[in-house]
Amino acid sequence: MVSDSCSVVEASRCIPVSDSVDVLVAGMGPAGIAAAIAAAREGARTLVLERYGYPGGMITGSHVVAVLGVGDGRKPRARGITMDVRERLERFNAVTGVTASGDYRVDAEVFKWQALEMLDECGARFLLHTMACDPIVEGHRVAGVFIENKNGRSAVRSQVAIDCTADADLAFRAGCLCADRTHDVSLVIQINGVDNGAFQAFEKEFPDRCRSIMETARAQNGGVMPGAQRYFRNVDITDAKALTRVEREARRDCFRSLYFLRENMPGWADARVSHTGSQLGVRQSRRVRGVYTVTDEDLRSSRHFRDSVARLSSYLNGYKLYDPEGLDYDIPYRCLVPEEMDGLLVAGRCVSSDYLACNSLRLIVPCFATGQAAGVAAALAVRRKVPPRGLEISELQDSLIGQNVYLGDETNGGMGAGADAAPNGHPAWDDDGPDPDVPGDA
Ligand SMILES: Cc1cc2nc3c(=O)[nH]c(=O)nc-3n(C[C@H](O)[C@H](O)[C@H](O)COP(=O)(O)OP(=O)(O)OC[C@H]3O[C@@H](n4cnc5c(N)ncnc54)[C@H](O)[C@@H]3O)c2cc1C
Repeated sequence: MVSDSCSVVEASRCIPVSDSVDVLVAGMGPAGIAAAIAAAREGARTLVLERYGYPGGMITGSHVVAVLGVGDGRKPRARGITMDVRERLERFNAVTGVTASGDYRVDAEVFKWQALEMLDECGARFLLHTMACDPIVEGHRVAGVFIENKNGRSAVRSQVAIDCTADADLAFRAGCLCADRTHDVSLVIQINGVDNGAFQAFEKEFPDRCRSIMETARAQNGGVMPGAQRYFRNVDITDAKALTRVEREARRDCFRSLYFLRENMPGWADARVSHTGSQLGVRQSRRVRGVYTVTDEDLRSSRHFRDSVARLSSYLNGYKLYDPEGLDYDIPYRCLVPEEMDGLLVAGRCVSSDYLACNSLRLIVPCFATGQAAGVAAALAVRRKVPPRGLEISELQDSLIGQNVYLGDETNGGMGAGADAAPNGHPAWDDDGPDPDVPGDA
């Protein structure tokens, strides 16, 4: 073994194969859960990996419990796993705040429990506390994934792997081109124990004094009160040092401000931090360059595609979710297919989209939708013995409809109606467009 002060040569070693599956899914956020359920329902031998000890991704790790993007601002639209999850959680009284458009809030702890039950029931196997480290690349094909966990390092062989890591970890390490412009990150921090009655009485009686205390508290905590969403800009979330800095700063500043308020603000004496997210809330990171890149204009113009795998309507513009209302756009299968790598699909936040379109496609419902589409596609590709890019689109769409996915109906032109030939491409994939209007709440 040769090494110097700049690098160490790692000795090559023989890695045991710990598993061999049809479909391997990396990441158990909404996209990964949907992908694994969908693949298993199509009969594929499916294994899903998660680096943490629970499923749910941002939903549970960052307490992002509002499932947004179900409808078009007026009525519900999405079906498939989006509704399966809702129906399952309703059985346990774990759904609240259902809106006219069908959006709903979930109980994160019940979600952790029931997501695993749903996977188990459809025959998908799962492995927690397991990092999907490196893809096993053979030529231009991903043939499995090296994993690491307390058991050590091993290899899982797969016919098709689906990258649902949100950061496109597998696609990036396989050499796929990725755009990596970031959006704001936030650490979810919840405060309880504030005596609102005492606080409001003080605010009413001494408004200037109250305002001045709040100004000091905000100044100590990056401009927001403890517990309010704080936005960290320009954080390279693929850099552990940058992540470490934000984790530390977010907690340090929040506590500094909280202890100041406990001493100075009536009603805050017993306030405490009741919960912090076990993972940073990341809004955007790597986006894979796929065969087609969905653009913001595609969403805003309700564009239909012949290879549609989901029809959705949500559009996140700053704080306004359904802006404009009544959109009716398709997500094309090609944005799940990396441009140059076989044996691999992507789903969730890292699908091929431009920066602005990602702001809408990263919502939980689009992530469920792309996950479900990727899972079905992977299973069909295995069954037909073709690479995912070689799938018969009509068969994929029939199978998705068989899983109750909404691809359009008579009243809005039907599946694929009005679809243009949309050539492959990615005009704005690595774009330098404007930021979404204001930092999104979502
Ligand atoms: C602060 C904040 C608020 C938001 N609010 C809303 C909201 O109100 N409503 C809404 O609909 N959306 C909201 N979003 C967006 C939404 O939560 C996410 O975009 C969505 O969860 C992304 O889904 P995903 O499955 O692609 O990734 P994630 O939810 O991030 O899941 C990825 C999973 O993969 C795992 N993983 C990553 N790398 C590896 C690896 N190498 N090996 C194994 N496992 C790995 C992670 O641990 C994680 O469990 C919000 C996002 C943020 C940051």
